[in-house]
Amino acid sequence: MLNIAVIGASGRMGRTLLRCIQAVDDLRLVGAVSESGDPDLGVDVGHLIEAGDLGVELTDNPVAGVRSAHAAIDFTLPEALADTLRTCVTQGIPLVVGTTGLSDPQLAGLKEAALTIPLVYARNMSVGVNVFMELVRRCAAALDADYDAEIIEAHHRHKVDAPSGTALALGELVAEARGGSLDALGVFAREGQTGPREPGSIGFSAIRAGNIVGEHTVVFASADERIELTHRAAERAVFAKGALRAARWVAGRAPGLYDMGDVLGFKKK
Ligand code: NAD
Repeated sequence: MLNIAVIGASGRMGRTLLRCIQAVDDLRLVGAVSESGDPDLGVDVGHLIEAGDLGVELTDNPVAGVRSAHAAIDFTLPEALADTLRTCVTQGIPLVVGTTGLSDPQLAGLKEAALTIPLVYARNMSVGVNVFMELVRRCAAALDADYDAEIIEAHHRHKVDAPSGTALALGELVAEARGGSLDALGVFAREGQTGPREPGSIGFSAIRAGNIVGEHTVVFASADERIELTHRAAERAVFAKGALRAARWVAGRAPGLYDMGDVLGFKKK
């Protein structure tokens, strides 16, 4: 049985993590941390997910929250991360960080903490997305620029940015595999007299419709054949399940900064 503490437990991802931990029998929730001023402080977190009493109260004391954990998982805000890192470093607790939007100094803080504790950090924790990215990386490395690369993504009507962060990450890895940069190769809009396709360019298309959770397709097409790789997310639980897989993996590791490629074994020699 692995003891888990969730930092940011009352948030959208925090609650999803609580549900996913309850749904498996090899993990035990031992701590749930939020910020001072959270109206749910002191509440048994089972009530945040309609699961009755779980015997763990939401606390704003991170040290008490993580004390008996084998691994902690943080899905909070970039500004909250320094506290989490300090707590886990002083308590010697392995950590999984899913919080996104980190600044360069905040990333430097992660690296420094990873000198003392094992730490997994990933901007997308979905196991499926990380496997998908590895397949795209391999295709891009094996196929030369004779294979036109196009990235198509689809999301729900409320999404305010385009292309998605995952589509951009896919574009970056295709560009990198071809020895270029997305800034130079990316084509983000086509309208009117565009002229023929620029060889080696990486085109993007975005669909915004209904309640689509998130879909990404990467097309590699030559004059003779076409490969299409697609990932479709159905639920945000994919991120929580990936974070729990990372937590199982990170507990008991040597200090260091790891990513989902390490967790999924892509970096084994
Ligand atoms: P949210 O706003 O619903 O939840 C954030 C929670 O953090 C809130 O409950 C808040 O009270 C808590 N919090 C704030 N400051 C804190 C502190 N100092 N200590 C402890 N808790 C604190 O947000 P969300 O949708 O759950 O997303 C959280 C983060 O996870 C965001 O950065 C989001 O982009 C990221 N995210 C990452 C992935 C991934 O796969 N890596 C997937 C989804 C979301």
